[in-house]
Amino acid sequence: MKIFYDKTHCLHNPAFEVFDGGQRVPYLESPERMDRILKAIRKMDDAEILAPRDFGLDPIRAVHSEQYLTFLASAWTEWLAATPETAAASDKTALMPATFAAKRDQMPETILGKAGFFLLDLSVPIVEGTYSAALASANCALSAAETISSSIAPPSSFALCRPPGHHAGREIAGGYCFLNNAAIAAQWLTRFGQVTILDVDYHAGNGTQDIFYSRSDVLTISIHADPAFEYPYYAGYAQETGAGEGLGFHRNFPLPAGTDDTAYLTTINQAIALISDYAPSSLVISLGMDTYGGDPLGRFKLTREGIGEIGHRISALGLPTAIIMEGGYNTDELGENVAAFLEHFR
Ligand SMILES: [Zn+2]
Repeated sequence: MKIFYDKTHCLHNPAFEVFDGGQRVPYLESPERMDRILKAIRKMDDAEILAPRDFGLDPIRAVHSEQYLTFLASAWTEWLAATPETAAASDKTALMPATFAAKRDQMPETILGKAGFFLLDLSVPIVEGTYSAALASANCALSAAETISSSIAPPSSFALCRPPGHHAGREIAGGYCFLNNAAIAAQWLTRFGQVTILDVDYHAGNGTQDIFYSRSDVLTISIHADPAFEYPYYAGYAQETGAGEGLGFHRNFPLPAGTDDTAYLTTINQAIALISDYAPSSLVISLGMDTYGGDPLGRFKLTREGIGEIGHRISALGLPTAIIMEGGYNTDELGENVAAFLEHFR
């Protein structure tokens, strides 16, 4: 299996994030996550770890708005210019607003105003290397998409993306995500026909939902913790099934806290039936490992065997599949869990 990885992700390494209750804590979405995954997948027989190709901005512009990309590209330099004292302590600070836009009619002029306009929450602090890391992550996803698209292609590929992407909407960052890697890969693959994105991260893929909500050429399915009690709270409900031409082409499967292998696998079967009916030309998987029991951000109880079985059932669809890394924060177990999923794909 071809695996795309770019160490540029290390440039996005904020010193902190802010948890509920105002706790300033070390950034949980850490570069070490990638080290652990790499270590585990290097032990796989057929792992071929490659640098991504640079696809330029056009495939990213096809998913994210121009004003959002302009913000991401210039946010750090604008922040430094607005707060010269930041430069002296740039390894300890980050661009993080205290005010967020509930209403998004008018983009403000100042960098803090814009940050509140384009950021959803306190898990997306912007540092000097954030944009470079996000671009490299998107190129990993695009390289994985390109790999599965040729007629002599191997049937699946893996993009070891960091930052993750599925919470990033058309013009909003949130939940550790800046560019929606899975959406960018899926959009690129639509040139060959219909695409399905199946999101098996613990959290609802609200960004992916936002991007494709009115479209019928990309079926989006997300299985996740019920947003009635879990982040991202404001999207991911069962009654959200698309709009306009996209009505019926988005599906959410919210599940309760404590969901185990048996309950999850029942839901995966429903998702697989939807994908079979839709008959896409390719599949993009948003792969999160925060469904694993004991994840510090999750409340499901999946086992490594269960995660392997999920991979087995999805792979049995026999579709060209680009697997895109999303969340997963039990760093000690993360690598082996990813390997347990990937081993069913070739
Ligand atoms: Zn997650």
